[in-house]
Amino acid sequence: MTKDELKAMVCAAIDKRYNDIVALSNDIYSNPELGYKEHKTSAKVQAVFDELGIDYTAGWGMTGVKGRIKGRNSKRTVAMLGELDALVCRNHPDADEETGAMHCCGHNVQIANLAAVAMAFKDTDVMRHLDGDLVVFAVPAEECIEIEYRSTLRQKGKIKYLGGKEEIIAQGGFDDIDAAMQMHVNPTEKINGEIQVAGSSNGFIAKIIEYRGKAAHAAFSPSEGINALNAAMLGIMGVNALRETFKEADCVRFHPIINNGGDLVNVVPDYVQMESYVRAANVNALKESNIRVNRALKAGADAVGAECIIKDMPGYLPLFNNKQMSALLRNNSEEFFAPADIYDGEHSAGSTDMGDVSHLMPVLHSWVGCVHGALHSAQYDLFDKDTAYAKSPKTMAMTIIDLLYDNAAELEEILANNKPLMTKESYLKYMESIK
Ligand SMILES: [Zn+2]
Repeated sequence: MTKDELKAMVCAAIDKRYNDIVALSNDIYSNPELGYKEHKTSAKVQAVFDELGIDYTAGWGMTGVKGRIKGRNSKRTVAMLGELDALVCRNHPDADEETGAMHCCGHNVQIANLAAVAMAFKDTDVMRHLDGDLVVFAVPAEECIEIEYRSTLRQKGKIKYLGGKEEIIAQGGFDDIDAAMQMHVNPTEKINGEIQVAGSSNGFIAKIIEYRGKAAHAAFSPSEGINALNAAMLGIMGVNALRETFKEADCVRFHPIINNGGDLVNVVPDYVQMESYVRAANVNALKESNIRVNRALKAGADAVGAECIIKDMPGYLPLFNNKQMSALLRNNSEEFFAPADIYDGEHSAGSTDMGDVSHLMPVLHSWVGCVHGALHSAQYDLFDKDTAYAKSPKTMAMTIIDLLYDNAAELEEILANNKPLMTKESYLKYMESIK
């Protein structure tokens, strides 16, 4: 069969499964679970794989599920990923009343896309014509939230890293994968949806900053105290004074919050805790700007004689989309989207742990415009179901066929041209160096 015939076959199969795909997505939407706690969602993915007769292993990063659909030979392996986790958005009308969890980043749509591709590939037995395997991988904990809960998991030895994909890389879950892809929903004003097929985004280092001073009565004897809040404010101002030194191209971001700013108004605060990320567009800028930010934060403490303790944690690495994979997706998108609604995208200051994967292998991370309201906000509303549940999985399925057809020729070329930014070994070394 020709490549186009195979593509037509899986697209028709996705249409036939439309109701199953939407039902799964709605079910996950109604039962949102936060990162590293996605047990019910994981069970739903396993049930889909069971029904389709897909072999899988579970427990990757606690809740991840890795299925494998074999090709006529297992020359290469392409992975399609879907993220399992929700985040907290208490003021959204659909938020879980108890936990505040809510799928206002649309990860339920990702799992639905994953299932759509799995269903279509099994229903049509298309893998019989392809030279490689497809891994369908449901992965946990993309949202970097509940840092304290995750720190406890780290102390108990249940996880090593904050992000689900990072954890799975460390566990070896990506060792047998040659290239990986996923979609993500995006806000749009377009009536018939849109798709971003390329682009890049920032990485980050997470940090907890503590200032320790000395308590004293704020009115009777401030001269006896060391004001930790003043130290923290000077630290923030120090970083602000650095901002003009950051290069535009490095897209550095520092956006702290104060978790604890003192207990009583008439006591000189002796303890302040802040939290922030330092974000940047490449690993060198990330490391360098982090050193300078930490220096400025410490200078705030020096100014008033307080102590500053900074705990750095590895966040995510910058994301780079593989250009050849993007070109394949662009080509396949032309069947469903108007030319003006297919675009490359600019560099984004946000971050995803798909960035970590993109340092090890060619990666495709598309943004599919199908929601109103900002991601993570109470206004989030998926309005374009056709784009979310039909067009999006079809473009992914067609791209997988492109990669694995005819001795996986496209994928072989991509791999020949791709120079990974890190090996798994140097990646793990980098992760251990951030502390
Ligand atoms: Zn997301």
